[in-house]
Amino acid sequence: MQEIVFKGIGVSPGIAMGPVFLLPEPEEYHPPEWPVRDEELEEEFSRFLRALSEAKQQIQDLHDRVSRQVGGDHAAILDVQLMIVSDEQIIEDIRNALFAKKNNVEAIFHQTLSHYLHILYGSGNQYLAERHADIKDVMTRVLNNLRGKKPADVCEISTPSVVIARDIPPSETARMEREKVLGFAIDAGGQSSHTAIIAKALGIPAVVGLHQVTAAVREGDLVLVDGQQGTVTVHPAVETLERSRTELRRRKAYADGLAGLRSLPATTRDGRRITLSANIEFPAEVQMVVESGAEGVGLYRTEFIYMNRSDLPSEEEQFEAYKAVVEGLSPHPTIIRTMDLGGDKFISHLDIPFEFNPFLGWRAIRFCLERRDIFEVQLRAILRAGAHGPLKLMYPLISCVSEVIQANAIVEEVKQQLRKEGLPHAEDFEIGAMIEVPSAAMTADIIAKEVDFFSIGTNDLIQYTMAVERVNDKIAHLYQPSHPAVLRFVKRIVDEGHRNNIWVGICGEMAADPAMVLLLLGMGIDEISVNPATVPRIKNLIRNVSYEDAAKIVEEVMEHTSAQTIEARAREVVKNVIAEPEVV
Ligand code: PEP
Ligand code: MG
Repeated sequence: MQEIVFKGIGVSPGIAMGPVFLLPEPEEYHPPEWPVRDEELEEEFSRFLRALSEAKQQIQDLHDRVSRQVGGDHAAILDVQLMIVSDEQIIEDIRNALFAKKNNVEAIFHQTLSHYLHILYGSGNQYLAERHADIKDVMTRVLNNLRGKKPADVCEISTPSVVIARDIPPSETARMEREKVLGFAIDAGGQSSHTAIIAKALGIPAVVGLHQVTAAVREGDLVLVDGQQGTVTVHPAVETLERSRTELRRRKAYADGLAGLRSLPATTRDGRRITLSANIEFPAEVQMVVESGAEGVGLYRTEFIYMNRSDLPSEEEQFEAYKAVVEGLSPHPTIIRTMDLGGDKFISHLDIPFEFNPFLGWRAIRFCLERRDIFEVQLRAILRAGAHGPLKLMYPLISCVSEVIQANAIVEEVKQQLRKEGLPHAEDFEIGAMIEVPSAAMTADIIAKEVDFFSIGTNDLIQYTMAVERVNDKIAHLYQPSHPAVLRFVKRIVDEGHRNNIWVGICGEMAADPAMVLLLLGMGIDEISVNPATVPRIKNLIRNVSYEDAAKIVEEVMEHTSAQTIEARAREVVKNVIAEPEVV
């Protein structure tokens, strides 16, 4: 068969080869309706019972697997679904409707459950409304069983495969098992989508923004995913496979060569010391951070503890997770970011209403300031973890100084509560604001007065500055870290931070690109936080350039008018200072 190569955006390095597991769109299936004769009604009902019992077994298997892998709390979401498939009332309603209407059972089942969903929507009862997603999941599963369709779930892959889909949300990505998902490739997505970030955290090679790879592959096709080059090769030829093996060896040799940098500081040739830290999403990544040679964590994205479950994580559970990170990295600091749900990170059981533009919606600190009940529990857990190692705290998506002032007041109240209760906790620690919204960048001088540091979130800052959704493959070409507007913002944030005597870091994906790091260094950035796997590469760059030279390049490129020429100039300089293997 003819080899076909697709080019997308490589977001998680590594090369994976295997059969395709095609994840279909979660379609809304409307079963056709046909009449059933009186004498066939009992058999029709039995057909439904068999599909239901099959669904029960599937959910139970999934429940057991999730409990084994990530613990019982994460499996609790499936308890609700088990209750739904065992509900006697639902079974009786289906039987009554079947014998009254005398239509095929898939149509009856679909109508009955749609009716329940309709009632739940209109109930105004939050608990019931939260069951909506579970009923929908069960409905799809039973309908699939009735029509003999294989359920598509990343947890139900039996042969190690390459997952291909139109899109995969971050919550689904977080459920992937490294042993079963060799790699994945999706039509949608951009460089800094959270799906891409999770793929990196799990070490799963991934390519996004392929536009139409789903249309070109069939289940079981052999594919090769190169998460560094950003290519997906369908039906790879023998020579292609040989080339990729050689490439893999070459990359490994380069990475091994950088391992010696582990205990060396991130200091420029002319002696400017940069704090190089790592971004994590799960406590399990601590070991990787330590091995990478990073000086602690510059961004711990805590929202993942809230995902893939039907309840909220308790204070105790959060405390244990945060403590494991803080303790594991001590004596280096951990910067814990308060949760950033919303945007592309949904959870079905929190009552977040439908929004036309979730990235411009009820997200992150905006959500936390309104749901103080949830925010306070998280802050208590974070502050308590701070008794076990050096802690810093930061707030995501600040757009007004008032949000910082409010959040700081809540932190003070939480401290007071903990003091009263006699619970050990951190008292004196730095608090920072993520600067990732243009309004915050423009008022950095005002916000600086209320915090101890800034961490620039360029993943969001670029999307809001350029008005380009970070997950949208159609406009991914406009997502430009080196755009003069983005660079002017970054420079302004660094300058205003320094003018107000606070340190300024960066934790967006932009800092994982050596060419962009050159510019960040030249602007005077104090801290850089990247995914653990990229730490050695960035340290190598820092140690091979001088701050003075980098500052001159910044001065030069700030006069340029296009993202392309700025990027080209920075790449040219970087190429001359560090001999990295070219992507072939
Ligand atoms: C960012 O926006 O750059 C950032 C680091 O936060 P997140 O990617 O989690 O939105
Ligand atoms: Mg962000």
